[in-house]
Amino acid sequence: MKFTELNLSENIQAAVVTAGFEKASPIQELTIPLALEGKDVIGQAQTGTGKTAAFGLPTLNKISTDRNVIQALVIAPTRELAVQSQEELFRFGRDKGVKVRSVYGGSSIEKQIKALKSGAHVVVGTPGRLLDLIKRKALKLDNVETLILDEADEMLNMGFLEDIEAIISRVPENRQTLLFSATMPDAIKRIGVKFMREPEHVRIEAKELTNVNVDQYYVRVKEHEKFDTMTRLMDVDQPELSIVFGRTKRRVDELTRGLKLRGFRAEGIHGDLDQNKRLRVIRDFKNDQIDILVATDVAARGLDISGVTHVYNYDIPQDPESYVHRIGRTGRAGKSGESITFVSPNEMGYLSMIEKLTKKAMKGLKPATAEEAFQAKKKVALKKIERDFKDESIRANFEKFKGDAIQLAQEFTPEELALYVLSLTVQDPESMPAVEIAREKPLPFKPSGGGKGKGARGNRDRNRGGRDNDRRRGGRRDFKRRDDKFKKDNRRQDNKKSHKNTSSEKKTGFVIRNKGER
Ligand code: ADP
Ligand code: MG
Repeated sequence: MKFTELNLSENIQAAVVTAGFEKASPIQELTIPLALEGKDVIGQAQTGTGKTAAFGLPTLNKISTDRNVIQALVIAPTRELAVQSQEELFRFGRDKGVKVRSVYGGSSIEKQIKALKSGAHVVVGTPGRLLDLIKRKALKLDNVETLILDEADEMLNMGFLEDIEAIISRVPENRQTLLFSATMPDAIKRIGVKFMREPEHVRIEAKELTNVNVDQYYVRVKEHEKFDTMTRLMDVDQPELSIVFGRTKRRVDELTRGLKLRGFRAEGIHGDLDQNKRLRVIRDFKNDQIDILVATDVAARGLDISGVTHVYNYDIPQDPESYVHRIGRTGRAGKSGESITFVSPNEMGYLSMIEKLTKKAMKGLKPATAEEAFQAKKKVALKKIERDFKDESIRANFEKFKGDAIQLAQEFTPEELALYVLSLTVQDPESMPAVEIAREKPLPFKPSGGGKGKGARGNRDRNRGGRDNDRRRGGRRDFKRRDDKFKKDNRRQDNKKSHKNTSSEKKTGFVIRNKGER
């Protein structure tokens, strides 16, 4: 719907055009007409869907600039969001001459009082500072006609319920109340009942951000156990084609070396490699010369590779959007895929941030034990032996060894010979080359103060260190490389698995995948 079809005054419409908005977003299309009619509205839509303009445009439309009093009050959870809303309201109301002020803690209250005195039609503020200003009698709310609770879920999460109630009690009862929120927990519905008059509910269904064909798992694991946990899972899963994501270039290099050492056909790509080398690795990956591609987010961006069955997030991504991009590498073209994210205990907050964005809970996965990994590899080996014995071309090769074989058969029992074959084919967990990945500090999680995860994001950038703590060391050299062809021949045939779990089980414990038939 075009903004011209909404009953907005001309100068507001002009400002929308200047802002470059072409069409109203769904939440705007549905809530603006209701708000313009004077109704109380509860609007629920995902972050980034234009809720500010949804309440802002009808509110600005209503302001009469010849009355120099506060006519609208917006309560916002954080300073950042208050400033953001103020800026957006200012740009839509500028032509009309609407004065919009923002007030928040951590900044001179005197200056804010001065700004309010110089005139304000709309005030956007955080709960604490609004209350302070009310107490100092610097904020007169008697003429407020529109009250807006923005990002209401965030405000409740931050424990502002009482403050909000105190503020609402200062606003005339005969007002219009608009409430906007990304989610709608019961506490918010109760606010609707308590402080709003027959509110109209508008809810825009959240879009599924991640592919439905991807089974998403997380494994809670300590930083120093991550690598072993991952390779064991790989042994059990036998991924056909997979991508491992690491946080830094160094990580990518170390993971690649470690995986090779354990017999996987892996290669890494990151920004420090020259273009030719990167292209070569990607070509090899596409042509089945490599089974595992290890990459940084940047290096993997925009890669169009089909047939990726597994995405391993060795490091949980820096921001939720990266997660969506990463797992978008699998489950393509109607095929199913799997993603496994390794999370250290103090990174669990990031997991929730991701789930909040994707609107999908990841299922907890119990790490495979060394024994399970060994059993899985053994099973693969036994199947291969059976298959090879039926393969004419392999049998043809036997001829060359006939004489030696007869001699061996006289010296050893069939059982001894079989044991020898198996011990050569199946790598024993005991003799696995040790791989140590240099420690990087796990991402410390601080609940986001800035809403939309901003606080956490900033925090993370400062803590990307750990570089000085480089304890890497090579694995043992006496290890026999796993036979590439062997592994490839034994790629998992059966992709189906039976997960007996629901997302609610996540809270109660781990989900154990049925690994029996793989
Ligand atoms: P929300 O509050 O739902 O998280 P915002 O109001 O902050 O979303 O809007 C997100 C971004 O989208 C802002 O940069 C805003 O200017 C822009 N935006 C909002 N509505 C439209 C629209 N109809 N067309 C284009 N951009 C829009
Ligand atoms: Mg918003």
